[in-house]
Amino acid sequence: MRQVFQGIGASRGSALGRARVRLAHALVIAEEHIAASAVEAELERLHAAISKVRTDMHALRDRLHGALAHEVGEFLDLHTLLLDDPELLHGLDALIRTGRYSADYALRLQRDRIAGVFQAMDDPYFRSRLDDIDQVIGRIHAALHRHDAGLQGVAGEILVTDSIAPAELVQYQAQGVIAIVTAGGSTLSHSAILARSLHLPLVVDAAQALQRINDGDALIVDGGSGLVVLEPGPSDLRAHRERGRGHVRERRALNRLRSEPTRTLDGTDIQLYANAESREDVAEAHALGASGVGLYRTEFLFLQRFELPDEDEQFRIYRDVVLGMSGRPVTIRTLDLGADKADRTGLALRDEPNPALGLRGVRLSLSRRDLLETQLRALLRASGYGPVRVLVPMVTTREEVRTVRELLKQVARDLRSQGHEIAEHVPLGAMIEVPAAAIALSDFIGSVDFLSIGTNDLVQYLLAADRNNEALGDLYTPLHPAVLRVLRYVMLLARKHDKPIAVCGEMAGDPLFAPLLLALGLTEFSLHPGTLLEVRRRIRECDLAGLRQRAPELLRARDRAGIEAWLADCACLPG
Ligand code: PEP
Ligand code: MG
Repeated sequence: MRQVFQGIGASRGSALGRARVRLAHALVIAEEHIAASAVEAELERLHAAISKVRTDMHALRDRLHGALAHEVGEFLDLHTLLLDDPELLHGLDALIRTGRYSADYALRLQRDRIAGVFQAMDDPYFRSRLDDIDQVIGRIHAALHRHDAGLQGVAGEILVTDSIAPAELVQYQAQGVIAIVTAGGSTLSHSAILARSLHLPLVVDAAQALQRINDGDALIVDGGSGLVVLEPGPSDLRAHRERGRGHVRERRALNRLRSEPTRTLDGTDIQLYANAESREDVAEAHALGASGVGLYRTEFLFLQRFELPDEDEQFRIYRDVVLGMSGRPVTIRTLDLGADKADRTGLALRDEPNPALGLRGVRLSLSRRDLLETQLRALLRASGYGPVRVLVPMVTTREEVRTVRELLKQVARDLRSQGHEIAEHVPLGAMIEVPAAAIALSDFIGSVDFLSIGTNDLVQYLLAADRNNEALGDLYTPLHPAVLRVLRYVMLLARKHDKPIAVCGEMAGDPLFAPLLLALGLTEFSLHPGTLLEVRRRIRECDLAGLRQRAPELLRARDRAGIEAWLADCACLPG
C-alpha cells in the first residue's frame, strides 16, 4: 500500500528503485532450531551463502578502478580475509552441527560471541574491527535469503538503514546503491557532505520509513524535498519523471554559466573556491572555473584505511590535486579526524565521552607530531608543483598556530636541505570554527596568512547544538543573531588586517545564504562544486552595494524570523 514518509533532504536527486533494508548493528533474528536430519542441508546452505559473498567480493574488487579501487579495495581485502577466518567459520559449523541452530541464528550467536571478545579489549583499534565483523556477517545473512545477495546485489537499489558512516557510504556507492534513506542523521553530518560530493541522493531523519519499509519494496526517494514514497502510485511516478526532466532543464540552464564570471550586478568579482574531497571533485571544480580549492579535507584519505598513508602516498595524492587545478591555489587542510570522523586505524579515539569537544583536528595532530610532520612534508613537497596553502582545523589557541608554523618552517628547512624543490612561501591559515578563536582572533591574526570560517562547527559550538543531532530540530542553524555577529566581527577584523578570508562551511554552498554573506562582507566562498553554479547564479543577481547598505539592518535582527524576513526582503533581485 502506498505510504509517504517525510524525512529531510540531505543530498539532492530523485531515485526510483527497490529497497534494501539494513540495520547497521543489530542482527534481529529469533532463536531457531533445526532437526538432526536437516543439519547437513543447513551447513550446505550456509557454505553456499559464504562462497556467494566471497565470489561477489572478488568480482567487485575486479570491477573497481581508479580512486575507488584504492579507497574501497582495502575494505574488501579485509572482509575477504574475515570470511576465511577459521575462528568465524568453525564456530558457525559447530553451532549448527552441535547446537542444532539454524544458519541464521548461528550467525547471530557467533556475531554476539565475537562482539563480546572485541568489546572487552582496551585497544580502540580492535574494538573498531567490530564494524567489519558486523558487515561481513550481515552480508552472509543477506546471501542466505536472496539469490542475488551480496555486494553486487545492491546495484540499482535504495539502501534504507538506521545510520551510515562516511566510509560505508563510499563503499555502497561503489556497489551501485542509487540512493540512501537513514532513520537518523542530519544534513550537516560528514556523511551528508560526502553524499553530496558523490551526487548520491540521501534523505535523513526518516525513522518511520525504516520501520515500515521491507526488502524489495518499490520506493521513490527525493533527496531534495526529503520525501520517501513506498509503493508509489501513477502520480508519484509522473512526479518522479517530472523531477528528472526538471533536473535536466535546470542543469542546462546552469551549464550556461560555466564560463561566466561570478560577478555581482554592480560589477564586483566574487571568488568561488571549491571544497574537494576526491579527484572527481577537483576535475569538476576546474571545469566550472573555480578560483582554486578552498578546502581539501585530508581526513577522507584516512577514513577508509587500516594503515596510515605514508609520506610518499600522501605526497602523490596532494600533488595530483595541485596538478589538477593547473596553477590555481589549492588549500589543503591538515588532518581533522575525531568527532564524527572516526577512522579505521584507531588514530581517532573512539570512546571519548564528548568527542566533539575532544581530541580532534589540530589537537590530535599536535598530540601525534610524527603524523603532522609527515603530512606537512607531503604538503610542502606538493607545493613544488603549484600553489599550495596549508589550513589548520579546530584552532582554539594562539599557541597551536604558532607551533604548526614552527613545525612548517622546520620541515621546509629539512626538505630543502634534502634537495626537494618546494615553494618559497606556503601560506598558513586557520579555520575559525571554535568560538574562542573567533573572539580572540585579534591576538593571533598576525600569525596567519589567511582565514577560513568553518560555519558547520562554528554554529554547533556557538549554539551548543550538535550538528548531527536531528532531535534538536531547528535549533542548529546559521540564522541566529549570535552567528551573524561573530561572522561580521571576524570578517571586519580580517579586512582590517588585510588577510584573505573565506567561508568554507556548507552555508557557503547554499544559494539562499549568498546575499546574507555578501552583506556581511564576504568575497570568497568555498563550496562543493555540485552547488557552485547555483551560487554563481545567485551572486550574479545581487546588487552588492545595496546589500552592504542593508547589513546594519540584518545585524539588528533579534531572532531567526527577523533574519529570514531580511533575506526574503533583501533588495538583491533586479526589479
Ligand atoms: C566546518 O566546520 O564548517 C568545516 C568546513 O569543517 P568540517 O565540516 O570538515 O568539520
Ligand atoms: Mg569543521
